[in-house]
Amino acid sequence: MPVLLLTNDDGVHASGLLALAEALAELGDAYVLAPEREQSACGHALTLHRPLRVERLGERRFAVNGTPSDCVNLGVLGLLPERPVLVVSGVNHGSNLGDDVTYSGTVSAAMEGTLLGVPSIAVSLAEGGDLAEAARVARRVAMRVLVEGLPRKTLLNVNVPAGTPRGIRLTRLGHRVYSERIVEQTDPRGRTHYWLGGGEAQWEDLEGSDMGAVHEGYVSVTPLHLDLTNHRALAQLADWPTRLAPRPGGAPGRPRPPRG
Ligand SMILES: [Mg+2]
Repeated sequence: MPVLLLTNDDGVHASGLLALAEALAELGDAYVLAPEREQSACGHALTLHRPLRVERLGERRFAVNGTPSDCVNLGVLGLLPERPVLVVSGVNHGSNLGDDVTYSGTVSAAMEGTLLGVPSIAVSLAEGGDLAEAARVARRVAMRVLVEGLPRKTLLNVNVPAGTPRGIRLTRLGHRVYSERIVEQTDPRGRTHYWLGGGEAQWEDLEGSDMGAVHEGYVSVTPLHLDLTNHRALAQLADWPTRLAPRPGGAPGRPRPPRG
């Protein structure tokens, strides 16, 4: 049986991850390697300044004192009996749509898998949605990816709406608009503090966006590409001057010796 690596950012005990593991069990040896506690909105962070510890919770279930991307590194680079053929991250509690994918630990885990050369999928479920439905969608998409593979440097970001999905739409990332930026408050000692994410989020009505699809009750499947280069801008910037003025008193371009 091929080895599958499952992770998430809600933590190893999250019900979304358990539902995912059950749904994918028949597709291969599904190993769960996930953060020991919630890491939502941790983005693509890696733990490089303290040791990672792995605790075995079951035959194919492990908790890591790190981030989702740590888990994918450990799983793909040697902790599992074989290199996984697929990384699936989720099922996240709450959607990961549009610009929000840049904060998402769920999506970042799939990015990490992709960077390590393993086809990867991120699956998220809108608030109030049905986990069994999301797990069913995850299995369907995973089966397809196992058969067809994915283009280079490309992952799939899957979002399942609340209620019974009306179907699947292939989408592009939408754009979120935050009406309020920060909430300022004063603590009992008279010091000011701030909360991010206080305002109600709205989204721009872009044709074919993931947000539009989920809003209308469809599963959105957005292929995300990890080459972040803006190739059109690269062409536009072609006539920028690229010669640097010589430094006063020094030979231009000569590297300085390392300090410290
Ligand atoms: Mg989460």
